[in-house]
Amino acid sequence: MPRYEYRCRACGTTFELNRPMAQSSDPASCPEGHDDTVKLLSAVAVGGTAATPRAAGGGGGGCCGGGCCG
Ligand SMILES: [Zn+2]
Repeated sequence: MPRYEYRCRACGTTFELNRPMAQSSDPASCPEGHDDTVKLLSAVAVGGTAATPRAAGGGGGGCCGGGCCG
């Protein structure tokens, strides 16, 4: 179940709720009981170095893998 982060504009508390996506925009009460809350954009983890391109000839000799070592 996705987790959403909310912030209470009444007391400034930020809190998280696990709720179905269909209810992501429903009103959420802060732990203090206030209803004046806003949903924050969740910082979904995005892979930063998932596809690092290998520099040509950067390592390994640049021969093996090309078919010339067989
Ligand atoms: Zn509050």
